Amino acid sequence: MNSIVIGSGFGGIAAALRLRAKGHEVTLVEKHSDLGGRARVFKRNGFTFDGGPTVITAPYLINELFELFKKDPKDYIKISPLKIWYQFIFEDKIKFDYSGNETEMKNQIEKISKEDVKGYEKLVNFTKKIFDKGFTELADIPFDKPFVMMQQLPALLKLKSYKSVYSLVSSYIKNERLRRMLSMHPLLVGGNPFTTTSIYGLILYLEKKWGIHYSMGGTGNIIKGYEKLMSEVGINVMKKSEVTKIISKNGKIYGVQINGQNNLEADNVICNADPPAVYEKLLNENTNNSFLFNWKKIGWNIPWDYLSIILELKKYMITLNITP
Ligand SMILES: Cc1cc2nc3c(=O)[nH]c(=O)nc-3n(C[C@H](O)[C@H](O)[C@H](O)COP(=O)(O)OP(=O)(O)OC[C@H]3O[C@@H](n4cnc5c(N)ncnc54)[C@H](O)[C@@H]3O)c2cc1C
Repeated sequence: MNSIVIGSGFGGIAAALRLRAKGHEVTLVEKHSDLGGRARVFKRNGFTFDGGPTVITAPYLINELFELFKKDPKDYIKISPLKIWYQFIFEDKIKFDYSGNETEMKNQIEKISKEDVKGYEKLVNFTKKIFDKGFTELADIPFDKPFVMMQQLPALLKLKSYKSVYSLVSSYIKNERLRRMLSMHPLLVGGNPFTTTSIYGLILYLEKKWGIHYSMGGTGNIIKGYEKLMSEVGINVMKKSEVTKIISKNGKIYGVQINGQNNLEADNVICNADPPAVYEKLLNENTNNSFLFNWKKIGWNIPWDYLSIILELKKYMITLNITP
């Protein structure tokens, strides 16, 4: 079976390796000259910068991709757990060492606001419920059918997904400094704590579950490790190759057009580029019967929180466009 994967971010690389482990012939297509997507590396004036992610919250997912091929991750990457996850320094120079040590967390919270220790415990318990639903149960469910979405609405309501992360934290915590500190998690993904749905509160619990890890030498080194692995296991990687169209016939996708010229055919096309661009540019809009695409077109301006929650969830799913 031949498979094309569009996009070489963490999602595309993971899809390519998982398909290869299942015996597919895999081609990974990336428009940039280097791999990694949001995890790309930029070099300026002798310094190297990670373009996006640095905080690793579920290291088992990173290691698993090496283990699929019976490789030891340590031969490719070095990921270390951190003792102190974040250090907050308030305007009067008071410091807060945020970590997975609950006793130390509560001692520091008590020093700032005694009455918030209980609220903190309740907040952690609540974020565990969001984690159980959003990560454990829903992380690999595609939200592409109205029924699947509707099924989740009662749970989303119960988990107060209509609130922002800051608003959720504020319902448990009184002190403004602690509110800001405990609601900072959307910043990790470039989001705004005051507007991002409280679903992202699950990160607060996710960190506690597996701890926070850092890739020595930067996140770019994980991408380098995967690039080496992909070359060893025979994945064909095409850089500087932009998919300009996903091609279909009689409603079936059978390949992609690269750089507006060559067509590449495959049994499966897995697309891990940003969904809005995919729906609007790569698929033929007129024949697009996707519920999500059509609903989005009609409802883009509806000030209805659930719509945005669902689209947010969808944004972080791997989109599968599979075929015959
Ligand atoms: C500033 C910032 C900080 C973050 N910090 C963290 C963090 O600390 N921890 C964490 O877990 N997450 C973090 N995130 C989120 C994390 O970076 C993303 O969730 C993750 O990198 C997304 O990976 P992806 O593979 O889904 O998408 P992307 O990384 O966006 O990959 C998509 C790829 O597809 C390619 N592509 C798109 N269109 C085409 C086309 N037509 N043809 C060919 N190729 C195409 C793009 O060039 C890109 O390489 C952060 C994000 C940002 C922006």
